[in-house]
Amino acid sequence: MIPKANYHTHTKYCDGKNTASEMAKAAFDKGFTHLGFSGHGYTAYDESYCMSKENTQKYFADIAAEKIRYAGKMEIYTGVEQDFFSTESTEMFDYVIGSTHCIYKDGLYHCVDEAEEKTNAIVREFFGGDFLKYAALYFETEAQVVAKTKPDIIGHFDLISKFNEGNKYFDMDEKAYRFLALESMEELLRTGVPFEINTGAMYRGLRTEPYPSYGLLKELQKRGGEIVLSSDSHDCDSIGFAFGEVAQACREFGFRYTKIWTPEGMKEIPLD
Ligand SMILES: [Zn+2]
Ligand SMILES: [Zn+2]
Repeated sequence: MIPKANYHTHTKYCDGKNTASEMAKAAFDKGFTHLGFSGHGYTAYDESYCMSKENTQKYFADIAAEKIRYAGKMEIYTGVEQDFFSTESTEMFDYVIGSTHCIYKDGLYHCVDEAEEKTNAIVREFFGGDFLKYAALYFETEAQVVAKTKPDIIGHFDLISKFNEGNKYFDMDEKAYRFLALESMEELLRTGVPFEINTGAMYRGLRTEPYPSYGLLKELQKRGGEIVLSSDSHDCDSIGFAFGEVAQACREFGFRYTKIWTPEGMKEIPLD
C-alpha cells in the first residue's frame, strides 16, 4: 500500500506557489489522509526562499484554520523544513525535516540547488572546477544534518545531484563519489532517523530518479535505512507526484515498509 501522506509541503509563505488552503484542498481531493506542511525555516544568511518571522506566525494561523476545516477527514500538521544553517528554534512545530541547502566555504554560504549556472560557478570558483571536492564538502555537511537540526525526517539526502541528470557533471556510479555519499549516509544511519524519498526534482522534470538516487537507495536498504515518501511540493499538482513509481522501485530494492509521521510517533506502512 502506498500511504496517502506527504510531509514535505511548501506554501506562499516561503517559496511555494499556493496557499495552505489551496494545498490542503488539493491533497484532500487526491484522497490524502495526512498532510504535513513544512515551510522553510528562517535563515538569516538568505531570506529569499524562507519564511520571514512575520510569515511564520501567519503560517501557524493559516494551518490552524485548515486543521479545523479538515478535522476528522484529513490529518494536518504544522512542520518545518529546517535548514542546516538555521539557528531558529523548531520547538513550536509538530515535526522537523532536516535539510542541507547550502555549503559554507571561504566565509560564504553557497546554495547548492538554486540554478545550474550558479552551481557551475560555485564549483569553478571555490573548488577549482572539481565536482568531487564540492561533493565532499556537501556530504560532510549533510552527515551532520541530524545533529544540527534534530529532525524527524532527513530531507533530500543527495540534493547536489539536482542538475546532474545523465551524470552530466559527475558520475554518480563512480567509486569516489559513492564513497563520499555512503560515508555520510552511514553517519546518518546511526541516528535512526528515516530518509525521505523526495520526488520534487522529478516533478520539475530535472531528474528521472528521486533523492536519494536509486543507486544510493539500494545501499540505504542494505544498511537497514528507513524511508518516508515525499513530494517536496511547491504547488498543488505536485502533491504525491510519482509515489507509485518510487514505491515500486523501493519494493524491488527490498524495502518492506515506508513510514508516516504522527503525533504519537512514526508508523510503519507496509509497501506490499
Ligand atoms: Zn529543501
Ligand atoms: Zn522543501
